Amino acid sequence: MFATLNERLEKIVNSIKGRAIISETDVDFTMREIRIALLEADVALQVVKSFTSNIKNNIIGKEVLQSIKPDQMIIKLVQDELTNILGANNEPLKIKKTGLTKILFCGLQGSGKTTTIAKLANHIKKESKKKILLVSADIYRPAAQEQLQILSKQVGVDFYNHDNCKSVETITSDSINYAKKNLFDIILFDTAGRQVIDKLMMAELKLIFEKLQPQETILVADSLTGQDAANISKSFTEAVNITGSILTRVDGDGRGGAALSIKSITGAPIKFIGTGEKIEQLEAFYPDRIANRILGMGDIVSLVEKAAENIDQSEIENLAKKMSKGKFDLEDFSKQLKQMGKMGGVSGIMSMLPGVSKAQKLMAENKISDDVINHQIAIINSMTKKEKLNPDLIKASRKIRISNGSGTRVQHVNKLLKQFLQSQKMMKKMKSMGGGSSPNDFIQKLQGKLPNNFN
Ligand code: GDP
Repeated sequence: MFATLNERLEKIVNSIKGRAIISETDVDFTMREIRIALLEADVALQVVKSFTSNIKNNIIGKEVLQSIKPDQMIIKLVQDELTNILGANNEPLKIKKTGLTKILFCGLQGSGKTTTIAKLANHIKKESKKKILLVSADIYRPAAQEQLQILSKQVGVDFYNHDNCKSVETITSDSINYAKKNLFDIILFDTAGRQVIDKLMMAELKLIFEKLQPQETILVADSLTGQDAANISKSFTEAVNITGSILTRVDGDGRGGAALSIKSITGAPIKFIGTGEKIEQLEAFYPDRIANRILGMGDIVSLVEKAAENIDQSEIENLAKKMSKGKFDLEDFSKQLKQMGKMGGVSGIMSMLPGVSKAQKLMAENKISDDVINHQIAIINSMTKKEKLNPDLIKASRKIRISNGSGTRVQHVNKLLKQFLQSQKMMKKMKSMGGGSSPNDFIQKLQGKLPNNFN
């Protein structure tokens, strides 16, 4: 989502990096560039203003320009301020240790509210043994109830059926009683959205809010709404006490403005982000990691966490063992490609590595996409077991058979075989790097080898 902003800010940061002397005119110029970049990314004007003035005050107040490394100090200040407007720390949901926790959701229609509730139920269920109840107070669209009910089955949590009751007050009090009686720990409470803010919707939301007395009131906002996000957030904040927000469609090509504005406008932290349509595609929001991603400094922590979550440890250990013995065949190569797919594919991994914009350009130039991975897996699937174990066997006629079988061309088969040989070579190099062969060793080595922008 932050591709353009990332490219702009990375350029600005690089333009001062390594400079021994920076004048006040340079600072003015840099701040102006940052201001333009943020405005173009649809960040709300008031947020842009305080962003640049905070950095400038810090530069002047802290006599950064007289320091030994002014370039690094300025970059650090930009990074800190970016983290600051995104919310400083990750703030988890406030879930009570005992008794019923009520979480109210609000947002415009189509912002992703219902999907997000199911995602969150799934997330909480995975992390704890809490008993969760989903309730929908959307009395206008029967389809909304149905959608939540279907999702509740998919996630494996309970759904409160109020049989088309037309009073949100009754739904609220009855569902609380039901939850208490049946010893539920958490209610996730969906409300009706409208396409635009209207008074009736806000009045109804207030009514539910007062009746429910939620521990958390979460605003679900579509990150593609750009400048509108600021106005929408403001209206909801004025109506109820928003305690957090969840940004959806962060996987889309929005310019990032909503993410950068929403915390300042609601005064409440962004708690999660939605990164796709699937139930699992919800991530806890870490401002510092996102700030680093925006500045092109990568997000190795999330990458390693994602690896730990999605990768089958025993399979990795098996692979590592084979690698250390120099035995690495096409079957293993295919497994590796599949693991990459599970981690969000090439694009998902690339977006977390330092120098994102450069990496993305490289990908585009070399036509590297997630489709390529799928084609490569198809090519390997079209090989016989013998061929996978012994790629030297794959000569002309076999190549034709494999390419036909996988719906690709011989040149693709050749490319894959070449890539496989390169991988094999790399494995041997890794082996000669010495030390253990566990994935953790590898990750540590990888981290040690990654460029650090402040050195
Ligand atoms: P509601 O009207 O606010 O309840 O919105 P829905 O939950 O029905 O979502 C509207 C559409 O947005 C659905 O097609 C969802 O699959 C999609 N959606 C929700 N969250 C995300 C997300 O994080 N990424 C993407 N790509 N789509 C999303």
